[in-house]
Amino acid sequence: QTFLARIERHNPQLNAFVTVTAEQALAQADAADQLRTQGKAGKLTGVPMAHKDIFCTKGVKTACGSKMLDKFISPYDATVVTKLKDAGMVNLGKLNMDEFAMGSSNETSFYGPVKNPWDTGTVPGGSSGGSAAAVAARLTPAATGTDTGGSIRQPAAFCGISGIKPTYGLVSRYGMIAFASSLDQGGPMARTAEDCALMLSAMTGFDPRDSTSLDRPVVDYSAGLNGDLKGLRIGLPKEFFDEGLDGDVAKVIQASIEEFRKLGAEVKEISLPNMKLSVPVYYVVAPAECSSNLARMDGVRYGHRCDNPKDLLDLYTRSRGEGFGAEVQRRILIGTYALSAGYYDAYYLKAQQIRRLISDDFKRAYQEVDVIMGPTAPSVAFRFGEKSGDPVSMYLSDIYTIAVNLAGLPAMSIPAGFSNNLPVGLQLIGDYFAEERLLNAAHRYQ
Ligand code: GLN
Repeated sequence: QTFLARIERHNPQLNAFVTVTAEQALAQADAADQLRTQGKAGKLTGVPMAHKDIFCTKGVKTACGSKMLDKFISPYDATVVTKLKDAGMVNLGKLNMDEFAMGSSNETSFYGPVKNPWDTGTVPGGSSGGSAAAVAARLTPAATGTDTGGSIRQPAAFCGISGIKPTYGLVSRYGMIAFASSLDQGGPMARTAEDCALMLSAMTGFDPRDSTSLDRPVVDYSAGLNGDLKGLRIGLPKEFFDEGLDGDVAKVIQASIEEFRKLGAEVKEISLPNMKLSVPVYYVVAPAECSSNLARMDGVRYGHRCDNPKDLLDLYTRSRGEGFGAEVQRRILIGTYALSAGYYDAYYLKAQQIRRLISDDFKRAYQEVDVIMGPTAPSVAFRFGEKSGDPVSMYLSDIYTIAVNLAGLPAMSIPAGFSNNLPVGLQLIGDYFAEERLLNAAHRYQ
């Protein structure tokens, strides 16, 4: 009831929630109370949360920020939704996001932009901007997000909260509306690493309904939070601290690295030479995959259908033209072009080859260091309209996050301090399955 009241009071201004499921939430809370009185409560029983509107929720609208799915009521729950429900968490509703998770500012949502609670003239980041803003404004203690190129970490940084993108394949993608399947990964967003740890353990686990789900034992991430950081080898990639990084943000990051040194960590400079290619590679791979994934929204099987189609082609073109916003159409066009006969080798195949070089850079780095650290984003939250007219400058706001998705590595963002009264995020990147180590380092710092 406390959180529902806060949502009612603050959401009209923030626009973080697109759907509030108050009645179901109160019923789930009652059930949790009963479990508690029976002594059957787990760590998360009765803890409120909310889902990014990319996760299918049975009987509840799941629109993924798009007019295309504005009337779509999901007939089933995503695996992540089922798992968190089974853990006893209370779902408060669905959170606003960039259309089909394409964006870095939440300005592409059909439901209007989310406001950053720290300064409502600035963006909350994207695409999980609704999740980040809702946690930052304490409309919910925790939320789910997804990260294809930075969409958990960059909004977490802009809104001053914590969020972790797990190793690719750890969290099931079943029922998580697909953007770029080889990059998409769900994860928790909350105030602290400790909260993320609790939630991540409940979200992971093998799922036969996701062909890329990894069959590994579930880890209790909260067990390792207090490990000693003495001797932890931290690598600072010199490419993260170049002229693209805001000077004030750099100072905040340096100061937080100093804290890790005080905690016993050893810090050294490393190099990820192919980092600079990650944005161009991503903007071939992600659009290519999205053009294929979004082909299913054809006005026949799912979502928006135009009025009075005169034939099948007219049905397809008008339904898609009306249902998808400008950024989604741009990605579909780029992706279709990159995959077309004659261009495939020059673009898609080449991008996949460079993708391998990028992950090899990380492989080399993890022979020398345990954790890579740096800024999550090159600046603090920017103002509405500042980048929306210039796609390339918008794309560059993910310059420090995208390589991680191309390599499939785990990474998190935690609050590091402030610049111009806006939060700065510190990024921690680990080797495959190093979630426990990242959460431990983040927790000790916090
Ligand atoms: N901002 C990036 C994009 O627009 C990443 C989005 C994401 O991680 N979902 O594609």
